[in-house]
Amino acid sequence: DGDSYGVLPRPCHALVLLNPQSGSGRALDDFQAVVQPMLAEADIATTVFVTERAHHAHEKVRDEDLSQWDTLVVMSGDGLLFEVVNGLMERPDWREAMKKPLCILPGGSGNALAASINYYAGYDHVAKKKLLTNCTFILCKGLYTQMDLVSLSTASGKRFFSFLGFGWGFISDVDIDSEKYRWLGSARFTLGTLQCLAKLRVYQGRLSYLPVAAEQGGSAPAPRDGPAPVTNGHIPQPAGTAAPGSLPPDSLLPPLGQPVPAHWTVVPEEEFVLVYAIYQSHLGTNLLMAPAARLHDGCIHLFYMKAGISRVTLLKLFLAMSRGTHLDLNCPHLSYVPVRAFRLEPRVPAGVMTVDGEALACEPVQGQVHPRLCRVLSG
Ligand code: ADP
Ligand code: MG
Repeated sequence: DGDSYGVLPRPCHALVLLNPQSGSGRALDDFQAVVQPMLAEADIATTVFVTERAHHAHEKVRDEDLSQWDTLVVMSGDGLLFEVVNGLMERPDWREAMKKPLCILPGGSGNALAASINYYAGYDHVAKKKLLTNCTFILCKGLYTQMDLVSLSTASGKRFFSFLGFGWGFISDVDIDSEKYRWLGSARFTLGTLQCLAKLRVYQGRLSYLPVAAEQGGSAPAPRDGPAPVTNGHIPQPAGTAAPGSLPPDSLLPPLGQPVPAHWTVVPEEEFVLVYAIYQSHLGTNLLMAPAARLHDGCIHLFYMKAGISRVTLLKLFLAMSRGTHLDLNCPHLSYVPVRAFRLEPRVPAGVMTVDGEALACEPVQGQVHPRLCRVLSG
């Protein structure tokens, strides 16, 4: 449809939010040496905003007059883009603000969205400077499309908008434990994986989800009389209560205190090595976790690994994940299901949870997809 794709105007003015501490600390040098010359050729002028601390970019885009910029470019890892998305969603005019095309240039150690966009665009698998060059080329071309976001709510009342994924257990532990090896660049995840394998832990909790297939199955025939059927699993919302500027309601989710609807699936096992809800193909430059994922597929790709898996099998799965062939191994401990919504209720607050690679206190969380909520440069 007409809203799905667009192109940046020329000449074009980009606000670049750059974290000088991201990755191995070379983002500013790389920007000046690699990015700026290419953008100059493409008639894209830049104003660089160098972040001085965490949350700086969040505040900047929340309060900024956006009319002066044609695109917001993030030169960092996924963490800074997470700040930008959530800063924009805090604006009273978020609906308008989210139409501003966003662009990710990999400057961090975790560059999952950049790797995913490189993959969707059909380019060869690359990392480091080559990935940066490909993503800069995508910005030069100026084509953007819509991207789904996932709204995550926690038991303590926090709400986040996430573009990459939510995790608990093994992978999230690696992500956070390996922060201290940031200077290694993306190799920090390889080292972190081996360290976490050594002290493999089990996480107890209940996982439930609304499978995409539940909408097509017709297992519950709609009555011809009586109450109107609940279509697409939507929970009726009180009408006329949404104030202008209020955030999009999570129409698939009952409050966290209430049980999930009957057409949801509750996983019978309650001991996990990991749970990961990912909405992009890549979880890192060398982790092709959800090869079928696309920017606006309307899907959360839910993976969970049950306890009892051996370390050797787990290592095999992670090695296969670098090529995206882990599901071909048909490991009985690994499950994959495309869903619209999920809920995770840890039995005790153990382990780290992550949203787009950023740590979160461990507590009950649920989320649902909001199709096409923002726009992103995609080649
Ligand atoms: P990386 O992939 O290397 O982790 P991110 O973009 O994810 O890079 O950034 C990591 C964190 O650094 C983010 O949570 C962000 O808030 C924070 N941050 C941003 N600017 C700065 C800064 N100048 N100094 C320290 N931390 C910063
Ligand atoms: Mg990060």
